[in-house]
Amino acid sequence: MDWIVRNIEEIQRKIAQAAKKSGRTAKDVTLVAVTKSVAAEVINQAIAAGISDIGENRVQEAREKFSSLAPVRRHMIGHLQTNKVNQAIELFDLIHSVDSLRLGEAIARRAARQGKVMPILVQVNISGEATKYGVAPEETLPLVRALSGFVSLEVAGLMTICPAVEDPEEVRPYFRQMRLLKEEIEQQGFPLKYLSMGMSGDYEVAVEEGANMVRIGTALFQKRCDHGA
Ligand SMILES: *Cc1c(COP(=O)(O)O)cnc(C)c1O
Repeated sequence: MDWIVRNIEEIQRKIAQAAKKSGRTAKDVTLVAVTKSVAAEVINQAIAAGISDIGENRVQEAREKFSSLAPVRRHMIGHLQTNKVNQAIELFDLIHSVDSLRLGEAIARRAARQGKVMPILVQVNISGEATKYGVAPEETLPLVRALSGFVSLEVAGLMTICPAVEDPEEVRPYFRQMRLLKEEIEQQGFPLKYLSMGMSGDYEVAVEEGANMVRIGTALFQKRCDHGA
């Protein structure tokens, strides 16, 4: 499956270029390979080719596949229901999609019972689209503050999903607002390690604006015939 190797190389090259524009290097950006609907054997090929982090958006699908995978860091990137929290804590290393105090509390309580400190990100609806999960920008600091009070949670950063657009330049202002929001919250005394934003269509712009974690599915796992052009 040479095509996976080529896809990874191309994405890493573009991440490196974008990181350079923001005074960083590719090493500063974690590539999370989004493996939803990808078969375990293909995921293992990607891991063999250097992928260290994978993202799934459903607990059930993750549960079915994870036992067949080589060691890898596992990210929960989809909306999480409270009745799946126990499983999510067992399956994943980082939950990107905490968008309410209620969900955060549920994770904290169950993590405490499992004797764990669960790293989480707060999902922000930066564009205000009605169809998107996430808290409003102005609700983000209060939620980070509240969640930081739980000893069994590590509030490790922010995550967002931008609107799908033809031209990624259209969403550049949202990525910039996310970086500013992260900086504002850090100035209030809450250090945030990760800014998870950017997908196949817009990750270069996201990295230019400060993303240090990108979640890429299609561009990585779609076999393409225009390589080498
Ligand atoms: C599917 C998904 C991605 C990856 O999207 P692509 O456009 O395929 O790169 C990233 N983040 C989340 C939350 C997703 O559900």
